[in-house]
Amino acid sequence: MSFAELGLIPELQKAVADAGYTEPTPIQRQAIPIVIAGHDVMGGAQTGTGKTAGFTLPLLHRLARHASTSTSPARHQTRALILAPTRELAMQVYESVKTYSKYVPLRATCIYGGVDMNAQIQELRRGIEIVIATPGRLLDHVQQKTINLSQVEMLVLDEADRMLDMGFIPDIRRILGLLPAARQSLLFSATFSDEIKKLADQMLKNPQLIEVARRNMVSETITHVVHPVSSGMKRNLLAHLLRHQPDTQALVFVDTKIVCGRLAHFLERHGISADAIHGDKSQQQRTETLEAFKAGKLRVLVATDVAARGIDIDELPYVINFELPHTAEDYVHRIGRTGRAGHKGNAVSLVCAEEKHWLNDIQKLIKLEIPQEIVPGFEPEPEFFEAGSRGGRGRRGSADKADGGRERAPRAAQPAAPRAERGGKRPGRSTIAPDGFDFSKPYESSIAAPAAETAGTTAKPDEPPRRGQRPVAFLLGGLGRK
Ligand code: AMP
Repeated sequence: MSFAELGLIPELQKAVADAGYTEPTPIQRQAIPIVIAGHDVMGGAQTGTGKTAGFTLPLLHRLARHASTSTSPARHQTRALILAPTRELAMQVYESVKTYSKYVPLRATCIYGGVDMNAQIQELRRGIEIVIATPGRLLDHVQQKTINLSQVEMLVLDEADRMLDMGFIPDIRRILGLLPAARQSLLFSATFSDEIKKLADQMLKNPQLIEVARRNMVSETITHVVHPVSSGMKRNLLAHLLRHQPDTQALVFVDTKIVCGRLAHFLERHGISADAIHGDKSQQQRTETLEAFKAGKLRVLVATDVAARGIDIDELPYVINFELPHTAEDYVHRIGRTGRAGHKGNAVSLVCAEEKHWLNDIQKLIKLEIPQEIVPGFEPEPEFFEAGSRGGRGRRGSADKADGGRERAPRAAQPAAPRAERGGKRPGRSTIAPDGFDFSKPYESSIAAPAAETAGTTAKPDEPPRRGQRPVAFLLGGLGRK
């Protein structure tokens, strides 16, 4: 199937061809006709599936009727709002919008916190059809009346599960209240907790359910390995592994900002070029570090989950978990940075005794027993071979560590409005099952039988999308739990 067959206007087809895409990905095949037809969408898709073009292309197609070469701001009202949880993701979506809209005179901008508002205000004054924003900074503009959302006809909520993790849901609800009721809304999430389903019910009207790859599915092109090791020897083992793969680049995940910086320094001291990105680094530092890594000037990028969100690096061969994530789903997110687009990838995890229970959670989620290989000279503590974890901790047993600097959200870097303005209490980073939702069960549509990449859609691209769908919570099998 070609992009032309999906009904996209020639300007978009040309831009897509310039980008080197020869055919749409499964999510694009599913989403594009549905969005062009004007339906709301509930999309189960992770990064790496081509989901950004999946919503950006039909969004541009629909807005093309407003395209104008006039310089008057009145001819460039804000028609589409795309919300993303992090600056990095917002920037990536913005880059995609720019790439695909190069032959359509629609204006786009990206607004996020941690930078001066004035340049964004000037930009918004020019008149901008497509605004890509992080929620906190968008609300800052709303408060200062520097953005007018009254003409928004399309809303995209990208990575809704991350929004929830980062405590943005109250902000999202506020933003929903500011938008015209008559609009088309698209929600994308890699996971579907009850809270996401509730949000979807509030935000979407008769949504079409689109799913590619079940949320717990990991790419088959990725080879997983666990190296059991004592916690004190982890960094030496990491240096050892990297020395034995001298030509590869690796993205190394850690849990805390402190470990992030220290580990990058340690590697540098051992002759391995490395840098760190985490939420305390300025936007410019993060961008520069990422660019250096993408350009191959750095061998190792050490990152926290929050900072690494949305990072899209072609052909990244290694993802290394220096510390296992405390949420099994984050393992899927992390290793999704490698093994993309059919390339081979390696997911290496350095696991000490006290992390074993997280390893069990991960294996349960991905339904795979990960081979364990002890590297001679880097043996684990004897406790590693005992049944449970050291000290019999629960699944969130490292709260002490979490309080000691576990990366949460880049929100702190954004100028804060009064807390009351933000919708009151902000929840902390959610656990895998904040409300008892059993994440170990695969996400399955109750109206289709998703098995492979392309399975699970409720509307095939060559069939007209169906109307009169049931509430999304029902579609996701969750109505009874609400
Ligand atoms: P995303 O899932 O949106 O983060 O996209 C992942 C990567 O796939 C990005 O680098 C896109 O440029 C690329 N991509 C998106 N659509 C296509 C396509 N149809 N063919 C080839 N690459 C694509």
